Amino acid sequence: MAANTLIPEARVDLQNLTVQCPYCWSEIEIIVDPSDPSEHFIEDCSVCCRPIHFHKIIQDDGAIELIAKHEDESYD
Ligand SMILES: [Zn+2]
Repeated sequence: MAANTLIPEARVDLQNLTVQCPYCWSEIEIIVDPSDPSEHFIEDCSVCCRPIHFHKIIQDDGAIELIAKHEDESYD
């Protein structure tokens, strides 16, 4: 008997990224959906509860880079 049935993983998976809060400098985990096309989103810091503005960059190889900014910083 086969020991295990392999379950294929979804190609697009949620990714856990660690970023530094621009307010309290704590390292927090953010879950990012690579299939979400929006480049900007806001997530409250789990430590200080202030709204962090994120800029999501998807690299050519599929890696996700997150830039965390203060709410009063503008994107360029
Ligand atoms: Zn914070």
